[in-house]
Amino acid sequence: MVPLLHLFLLAAVSGLPDTINIGGLFHSTETLEELVFQYTTQTINSEGMILHKTLVALPKRVPPNDSLVASSIVCHLLEQRVVGIFGPRAGPTSPLVQSMCDTKDIPHVETSWDTKQRRQDFLVNLHPHPSTLTRLYMDLVSAWGWKKFTLLYEDASGLVRLSSLLTMFDKKDNPVTLRQLATHKNHRQILRDMRHAGERNIILDCSIETLPEVLKQAQQVGLMTSDQSYIITSLDLHTIDLEPYQHGGTNITGLRMVDPNSTIVEMAVKRWADLELRKGKNLGISPQTLTVSMALIHDAVQLFAHALRRLDSRAVNMRPLDCESQDSWGHGASLINFMKDGQSMLRGLTGMVQFDNEGFRTNIMLDIMELSYKGLQRVGTWNSSGKLNITRLVPPTSVHDSESLHNRTFRVLTALSHPYGMLRESTVALKGNDQYEGFGIELIHELSLMLGFNYTFELQLDNVYGSYNNKTKQWTGMIQQLLKEEADLAITDLTITSDREAAVDFTTPFMSLGISILYKRPTEEAPDLFSFMAPLSTDVWICMFSVYMGVSILLWIMGRICPYEWNNPYPCIEEPEELENQFTLQNSLWFTIGSLMQQGSEIAPIAVSTRMVAGIWWFFTLIMVSSYTANLAAFLTVESTTSPFKNVRELANQNVIKYGAKIGGSTVNFFRDSADKMYRDMYKKMIEEPGVLASSNNEGLKWVKERNYAYFMESTSIQYITERDCEVAQVGELLDTKGYGIAMRKDSSYRNQLSSAVLKLQESGKLAKMKNRWWKEERGGGRCADNVSSGNPSPLNLLNVGGVFVVLLGGLVLSCFVALYELLCKVHETSRREKVPFLEELMAEFRFIARCHGSTKPIRKYNSQEKEDSPPTGEGTGPQNFVRMSIYGDTPYGFNTNMKVPLT
Ligand code: GLU
Repeated sequence: MVPLLHLFLLAAVSGLPDTINIGGLFHSTETLEELVFQYTTQTINSEGMILHKTLVALPKRVPPNDSLVASSIVCHLLEQRVVGIFGPRAGPTSPLVQSMCDTKDIPHVETSWDTKQRRQDFLVNLHPHPSTLTRLYMDLVSAWGWKKFTLLYEDASGLVRLSSLLTMFDKKDNPVTLRQLATHKNHRQILRDMRHAGERNIILDCSIETLPEVLKQAQQVGLMTSDQSYIITSLDLHTIDLEPYQHGGTNITGLRMVDPNSTIVEMAVKRWADLELRKGKNLGISPQTLTVSMALIHDAVQLFAHALRRLDSRAVNMRPLDCESQDSWGHGASLINFMKDGQSMLRGLTGMVQFDNEGFRTNIMLDIMELSYKGLQRVGTWNSSGKLNITRLVPPTSVHDSESLHNRTFRVLTALSHPYGMLRESTVALKGNDQYEGFGIELIHELSLMLGFNYTFELQLDNVYGSYNNKTKQWTGMIQQLLKEEADLAITDLTITSDREAAVDFTTPFMSLGISILYKRPTEEAPDLFSFMAPLSTDVWICMFSVYMGVSILLWIMGRICPYEWNNPYPCIEEPEELENQFTLQNSLWFTIGSLMQQGSEIAPIAVSTRMVAGIWWFFTLIMVSSYTANLAAFLTVESTTSPFKNVRELANQNVIKYGAKIGGSTVNFFRDSADKMYRDMYKKMIEEPGVLASSNNEGLKWVKERNYAYFMESTSIQYITERDCEVAQVGELLDTKGYGIAMRKDSSYRNQLSSAVLKLQESGKLAKMKNRWWKEERGGGRCADNVSSGNPSPLNLLNVGGVFVVLLGGLVLSCFVALYELLCKVHETSRREKVPFLEELMAEFRFIARCHGSTKPIRKYNSQEKEDSPPTGEGTGPQNFVRMSIYGDTPYGFNTNMKVPLT
């Protein structure tokens, strides 16, 4: 009897039976949670550290919305003497399970985010309470300095959970925009609307299953740029692939409850994997893919096991419970209290598992995660006592590595301006970027290949590029779109100006140009009666005439100086009275004009000096005549064209031809802001005159062709037009020099990368090739190439032929010296021979020359007797019965040699 009593007492004290059933309710999508539920109980049983009894997991599948099925499953579990029910996930069936557990005093353990969670006697929920998490989101919104945001939610329960966020700011400025994701899988329209509305700060609340699709579509519509910031409420953000978004500079913040690097997580996952291996399967769970719901199931089972151990000290009877009857389990309340009172001090996969006196999870510690180009990084922590501790030093958007444009999507604004942006000609309807082509479109494509970004083109429909309106204090056009963050980049024939540079940033210029005038092609000039004069400029004609006169006179004078030009006019008469000189003034003029006209004359110089003059003159005439002939040929073959004005000054100084430029463009602003009064006056005229400022270059071109109108346009655009439209041409030079650049918002982090990529394209010659193709080949380029005149020939001026004049002048000076030398020699010889003083002889010669009269010269007679006394010298020495007649008769040339006249 005593041993029996002893046994009975022992059984009563040891409490729990050897096997304890626990039920688990799972949806069909929760296969892994179900496995974790089973494996955790198996681990507890095999290790025997927490409980020395055997836990038996009874997992059941429940349909998410069928309460009837759910209740019958719960009844079935109660009949199986379960001491606790885990799950199901929050939804329509969970309140039903909750109330059944309440009725039967069976602990109900939940692990999901439940909006309806209240303090219940028999309920314990390991998931942080929604209000706790909402506090965290509010702390983050404040820490990130958001003044307004969009709450993008998946279903109404999400909105309820996050309702406190809606009251965070003063409602006056509508700081919170609510948007619900589409019920079907295509959320693009909503995301596009958000982009158009300029919504940059987004709290995204959706299940982890929906999240990848939403992020993907956000990227597709351009809502994943560096301008957007996201807070993602899902605690499982780390389990999805974020690689496509980590280089785009989008500021994505998430939260993490499970640290995949902690030892406890690694060990738990390893144990599950070992159990799975024994079955020859691969669970496919890694610390990185461990979701919060799996971790919470693990922690819930562990917590339950700890509570059971404490209950083990009591006498616990277990019996099947009938749903139809009123009976309940007597130990449920104790068990639930053991779970909540915190004495078990359980450190689970989700951190310390503790509850406050309301029965809600407390002392929660969450990691604040941010997506950077290195992946998801922990940047701080938050604990449920409200302490947000951000440890990150560098804002995630300041990523400067070369990869940072990878997978980033830019919204690129362009305008329909040929050839920078054009609609592609196609027989089928095109969509998206395929609709456009052109130089600007190709340039963006090349840059995207180099830097790895994506792009979507948008059109500036009104074709306004952007100028600052002083009245409204607002920018217009494309610049305004950039400032309003409607676009990230703008590319077209957008000129870099100082005004614009103050508001936005530009890349280095990809094209250089200047302002010029587009006007009707110049008409043919009527032939000029005196066009033979055209090959030489007036200066040259004057110089020609001067040197002709000069050389003729010089020849005449030299003829007189030079002794050898005085000849016996009658060679048959041996004793002439006088000598004759062929270089009279008329003859000299005749001789030079004869050679200038390439005809020659009967006059031939005899002396060295005069021959030198003749030679140099012939050389001069050869060059001049050849130059004249060559240039005349050019004048005769090239059609001369004429335009009513040749440059901007001539255009400004007339009133017949109207002129203008593109409204609000940099060209018209050039006239407005110019320091030159003439340009400012032209601007005044342009704005006062109606109908001269065109809305686009095409309109300007139309006016040029239809009216008497000149259009100021950028040279590159003029070049494009004149390649295709042969009726118009550029008139005059460039008024300035500037460049086109790609515009972006100020201080954009990608500016440098874009600029250096543009430079690389320039250096490799790719830009030049692209320009050549779009200007000269595509869409009718090169049509007017034959019409392009090489320009009117220009008359030769002094600069062209000055050298010949110099040579002529040099030759003349030299020949003067030679002439002088010839004279001196002869005078010297005569003075020696005739025994007359040299100076006297020379003076006599000079006197004769200075008379400048007549072409004959009497022969001087010397006293021969005087000469007999002295011995004869030199070449003139002869027999005594001869009288030397004159020095003028002695020439070394031809017939007029020393004449010895016999004495009679
Ligand atoms: N490229 C000019 C601009 O950026 C437009 C054309 C013009 O003004 O000639 O404003």
